[in-house]
Amino acid sequence: MTKPVQTVLMIRRGVRASYGYIAILAFVLLNLLGVFRIPLEQVGPEHLLVAAGWLVVFGMRFRARLRTRQRQVKSGWSRFELCLLLLVFMHTGLQLLGGFNSPFYPLLYLLVAFLCSYLEPRFAWALVFLAICYETAIYFLNPQPVALSAFAFHAFLLLFFGLFAQLVTRLEIGRLRRESQERLEGEKKRVKEDAQIFRLVVTPSESAVYDEERLCRSSIEQVHHSLYFNLALLKRVMKLHSCVVLMHDESGEQLHLVEVVSDSDEISEGPFRAGEGAIGGAEKRGQIINLEHVHDGYNGIGYYRAPSAIRAFLAVPIKENGNLRGALCADRIEDIPFDVDDQEILLSAAEQIVRIGENERVFVQLERSKREQTILYQASKALGAALNEDAVFDAGLKAAAEIVPYEFAAVTLYDSQSHRHYVRRAVGEGAQALANLSFRDNTSLTAMAVKNCHFLPYRGEFDGSQQIVYTKKANLTGMGSLLILPLIVREKAMGTFALAARRRNAFTNSVRPALQALANQLAIALSNAALVARLERLATTDGLTGCRNKHAFHEELESKLRAAERFKRKLSLVIADLDHFKNVNDTYGHAIGDVVLRELGRILQKMKRETDSVARFGGEEFCLLCEETDSKGAYQLAERVREELTKTIFQTELGNLNVTCSLGVATYPHDARDRQSLFAAADRALYIAKQRGRNCVCSVGM
Ligand code: GH3
Ligand code: MG
Ligand code: MG
Repeated sequence: MTKPVQTVLMIRRGVRASYGYIAILAFVLLNLLGVFRIPLEQVGPEHLLVAAGWLVVFGMRFRARLRTRQRQVKSGWSRFELCLLLLVFMHTGLQLLGGFNSPFYPLLYLLVAFLCSYLEPRFAWALVFLAICYETAIYFLNPQPVALSAFAFHAFLLLFFGLFAQLVTRLEIGRLRRESQERLEGEKKRVKEDAQIFRLVVTPSESAVYDEERLCRSSIEQVHHSLYFNLALLKRVMKLHSCVVLMHDESGEQLHLVEVVSDSDEISEGPFRAGEGAIGGAEKRGQIINLEHVHDGYNGIGYYRAPSAIRAFLAVPIKENGNLRGALCADRIEDIPFDVDDQEILLSAAEQIVRIGENERVFVQLERSKREQTILYQASKALGAALNEDAVFDAGLKAAAEIVPYEFAAVTLYDSQSHRHYVRRAVGEGAQALANLSFRDNTSLTAMAVKNCHFLPYRGEFDGSQQIVYTKKANLTGMGSLLILPLIVREKAMGTFALAARRRNAFTNSVRPALQALANQLAIALSNAALVARLERLATTDGLTGCRNKHAFHEELESKLRAAERFKRKLSLVIADLDHFKNVNDTYGHAIGDVVLRELGRILQKMKRETDSVARFGGEEFCLLCEETDSKGAYQLAERVREELTKTIFQTELGNLNVTCSLGVATYPHDARDRQSLFAAADRALYIAKQRGRNCVCSVGM
């Protein structure tokens, strides 16, 4: 493309992008020059042409804006442009209608208010600002004098309307946003509640017992509901007087009235003796009993309190997996005997009744496992997040309590090298006596569970006189149930997770699999925590001497300095450097050099107080950080270290070796106030000690 063509294209592009603003400027100029400051009668074709021009520009810009909106482009500027176009047009109109003194002037305020509510805040501010500037310019260029107060009033009203509209719009937007947020929250809550009502989700509560009870209760209600519905249907279809479900108790000796739909007020609640009367034929012997034309006063139908007036009676057995569970009975007051079709209907209804129970049992099982899954899922999340032993124990014990309530729980870890078991956490009754207990491999259930990688005792029962949980001396008492689960990682048991409860049968098959799954997760989390601890140790320890490394020491010094600053305490730093160590290495070899380094590390560890910390700072330099210690205390400590090393004799192939060291001491806040200068001060002291002939201590503050 040639240069002139490019220039033409650029100009065209520029005009296309800015003709709206060009039109605005043109109108501003025309207004400032007072082209429209004429009476209405003098409006000529040229004025109308200008107005038409405005209309065309406005229309085109409006169309362009619609397009940007469709493309969902952020279009604050194009809005602003349209607003300015409207504003200048309004001014033009006002000039025609009498300028400042026009009775139509309030229309301008309304327009500004409207535009401000429509624009984003920054554009609204700009619009108000430009409107006032424009107003000011017109005021000063107006040949007819206008009172300053009138102009000021106009400007004030412009500002006021602009501000007010912005404020109202913002408040309204805020209110609408809040309202829709609240509506959304309400909706979410309702959906959640409905889901719970229809049992689509379970929220495990804190108490496992409560959940189990709630589950049973709602299932029983569900069974009754279904039974009632079925009986009501039978009664209607078969035109019955009563329809009754009777079921055996566990012993099979009694019959319980489980559900009834009847027109009679004489129904007896029971329980009834099994095997008696007409019903006995069905529920005990599995026969279909069909009585026709029953005479008045017949009392072989046990569920009526008084001899009944029924004329027809039908009973079919309720069988589950071939076992008699009870009977389904139907009777009529009218003398219409039950036929074969009726029998079939009642037989299939009896099957349906069995199915209702089965379904509900499956449902309970599903519900229970759903609950367990939720607990295990939450537990695995908590265990996964636990990075140290204590956090793992906390999460494990909490999850176990949600699965099954217990009175005692403990975790042991096994050290396969020393063959010892360690109780690492015990909670509940008798836990105090077990805190920090450790014992050798013995015949206890704990040791057996670790050895066999299998839970113990097999039936989950506990008898303190026969079974030993940990040791004979420290055995559990007063518990009826016990479960010791091995903590298995890579097919090896690393310890046990034990639960005990006062009640019997606490840890049956219904909860054991979930507890074992929890124990497995616990084991993995524990080995992860051990790994994290090992990594932390490796990252902060010097491999040769076991002292802290330079990085860890820096961090510790920083935090101890901050503590010293906060609590106005002293903090001393001692740097120790072996004397002529290069010679030791050269003469006796590096291996002996390492022995000397390890020995100095050991001496420093031995001499320091519990709260002090020692680091190998690199090469043959060690640092000792002493909390709440002044120059004098640190000097004495350094002196003792020096003496101890001087006394130490290293036996080597080349004869006995004696090594000395020099030490420098500096104290916060006396000698330095930050990490760098504390180091520099101690280093300076060390240098002086070396200068003074080595094998001595030098302190900056002494
Ligand atoms: P000075 O009394 O002035 O401190 O003399 P020096 O010989 O000890 O001098 P310097 O402190 O500069 O010597 C550092 C020596 O420490 C050099 C090196 O042989 C030795 N060294 C550094 N790190 C190790 C290590 O890990 N093992 C062994 N055996 N020697 C080390
Ligand atoms: Mg050195
Ligand atoms: Mg040295």
